[in-house]
Amino acid sequence: MAAAAAAAVQSTRGSLREDLTCAICCDLFREPVMLACMHHFCKSCISRYWRGTQGPVTCPQCRKEFSSKQFQTNYLVAAMVEKVRATTSDAYTKNLEKQLKEALESHRLRKQDFINSIHRDKEKMNIIKSVAADLQARVKSEFQALHQILHDEEACTLEQLRREQEEELVKVQHHLEVTEQAAKELEDNIKALQEASTATQDIVLTELPALRPCAQVDIAPEFDINAFSNKYLAPLQYITWRRMFKSLKPGPSLLTFDVDTAHPSIQVSRDKTVAVESNVMTHHVNHNKRFLQCVNILAAQGFQSGRHYWEVEVGTSPKWDLGVALENVNRHARIKLSPESGYWTLRLRNGNEYSVGKQPWERLRVRSSPQRLGVFLDCDERRVSFYNADDMSLLYSFANGPRGKVFPFFSPCITDSRHKPQPIKLLHYPPAALSG
Ligand SMILES: [Zn+2]
Ligand SMILES: [Zn+2]
Repeated sequence: MAAAAAAAVQSTRGSLREDLTCAICCDLFREPVMLACMHHFCKSCISRYWRGTQGPVTCPQCRKEFSSKQFQTNYLVAAMVEKVRATTSDAYTKNLEKQLKEALESHRLRKQDFINSIHRDKEKMNIIKSVAADLQARVKSEFQALHQILHDEEACTLEQLRREQEEELVKVQHHLEVTEQAAKELEDNIKALQEASTATQDIVLTELPALRPCAQVDIAPEFDINAFSNKYLAPLQYITWRRMFKSLKPGPSLLTFDVDTAHPSIQVSRDKTVAVESNVMTHHVNHNKRFLQCVNILAAQGFQSGRHYWEVEVGTSPKWDLGVALENVNRHARIKLSPESGYWTLRLRNGNEYSVGKQPWERLRVRSSPQRLGVFLDCDERRVSFYNADDMSLLYSFANGPRGKVFPFFSPCITDSRHKPQPIKLLHYPPAALSG
């Protein structure tokens, strides 16, 4: 198609060039002039052709005779000739070819760019699909585990009901059998007595007939519908849900503070679940686990494998740091919190400035101020994630988590004198897991 179109353009241009060619010099017109017969020639060609002729002259093309040497300049044709001359010049065509080449090249490059981009898009789609398939399998297995827990709970509860029903039935069945036996014995005795009674009409009865000893029948066992049903009419879903905590992987860890790590200005509650900054320094026994420069404290429970989750209540405290710290962090120096120094943390300053504990700090946009924070530690996948435990929305996740043993880390920070220090509480939720 393109070749045919180009040929057509070429031939149009060719015939136009022919139309604008002088029949005398066989070249494009120069200063074209028109005779009365409408034929055109170069002004110089026709002048030369007629030179020396006296009297009438003829048109070199159609031989028409004119009485005098008369012609007129055709500006329109002159302009067309100039245009054709310009567009058929070597420089012009070279330039045109160059432009063509450049346009072609740039189109080719852009096309290649698009092809590369399409390639990348397709690759990205494959990655998305494969990551999503992976996640799908994980979600499925998590739910399968939950279903399994529920199935087991259901089977266990139904089995218990079946056993209790059986026990009640056995009790009544036993009573029923004993009573039937007793009734039968009485029946036999009645028969014997009746026979003896009939016999007295004919003979003198000297003694009572021998009677079978009657079996003792206990009082009928009570069936207490209430006692039997109560357990199963209870808020079964809630009880099961409470019991499930024990089976969750990971369920909320029951953390306590390690008092031996507490900075001297941190006071810890007797049950070791509440830590608060105080302007009165506690004189502890010196311990090499203790933070001496920064107002920090660790939990007593360290982790180096598996997945763990815990919740911390920070309330409306305007300032805190929390996360995890490697066991071997320097506790006697003032350290900037960052993964490089062994801390994976989230921090709050001035009541609403949340940041990721990196150097430099990375500010986080947090929609509502969480009063409870959840920390998820996946030792195997080296991930540390922070959640707003009020609604379980993800706040931030470190993908390059710790290698080696870490401890839950907390800092109530130093409260300025205008405010009352607020405690950090380790949440034990539910208050107590129900035993199976
Ligand atoms: Zn000419
Ligand atoms: Zn003519």
